[in-house]
Amino acid sequence: MPELPEVEVLVRHLAPLLKGKTIRGVEVRRARVIRPTSEQQFKRVLVGARFKELTRRGKYLLFALQSPGRRPAVSLLGHLGMTGRMYLQPAGAPFARHVAVVLRLGGTNFVFEDTRYFGRLTLDVKALSALGPEPFSDGFEVEGFFQALKRSAQPIKVKLLDQSLVAGVGNIYASEALFRAGVSPRLTARRLSAVQVERLWCSVREVLAEAIQFGSTVPLDWEGTGRQDRLFYYGQADGPRASYEERLRVYDRRGQPCGRCKTPIKRIVQAARSTFYCPRCQKT
Ligand SMILES: [Zn+2]
Repeated sequence: MPELPEVEVLVRHLAPLLKGKTIRGVEVRRARVIRPTSEQQFKRVLVGARFKELTRRGKYLLFALQSPGRRPAVSLLGHLGMTGRMYLQPAGAPFARHVAVVLRLGGTNFVFEDTRYFGRLTLDVKALSALGPEPFSDGFEVEGFFQALKRSAQPIKVKLLDQSLVAGVGNIYASEALFRAGVSPRLTARRLSAVQVERLWCSVREVLAEAIQFGSTVPLDWEGTGRQDRLFYYGQADGPRASYEERLRVYDRRGQPCGRCKTPIKRIVQAARSTFYCPRCQKT
């Protein structure tokens, strides 16, 4: 499932390709993914609009477009859900089976494909208002993080997934950040010491930054077949994917020895999601 780093890498890839391109036609194949926008409104606003900018907010892609005669710019919000992919392909190329939306840009098509249709490409941007600070922004500061955790009775791992705490952290990087900080995923959020909070605050930024760095340096095949629900799963074949998994220290490593102390990594379920941790390195 794509988290902040995967979306960031995708945004960096797509932004220069889309900039300045005009939408000449729109095809909605699965109306569900543009909800609550109607197909009619989606087309009326987007046909003729030109891509100005593409940015990321949390796990969302935010496309800014200029429609003729419409000011200010139009915002189009994208979310990959669990299996979504966005890429460009030549205008004549056949579409994959689960293509949900096509934006025709002349010589190329922008394609939003989503096997399970949990993703979104919509003119409704309300979801952004619920997001907390970006992890790399000044808005994410250690004191605010500490105060927010002090108000929470949830286990820290569960609380980290709360997008109003910090935007973009998902299941994989929550486990990874806690391992690096040496904090037990079961610890109640409000019980973290100031030192633990500071270590965790650093770890969150570190694991995300490293993953972005990694995703930006490996060759990715953007139209890849997406067979696996994995980090950079839209990436090319086995090479980069395998090497990325090597970089994960606890996620999906149940039973494997901890890189620090050799204790087998444990898997538990918290709020219906898997958590991976080292019972020795993350005692408290
Ligand atoms: Zn360990």
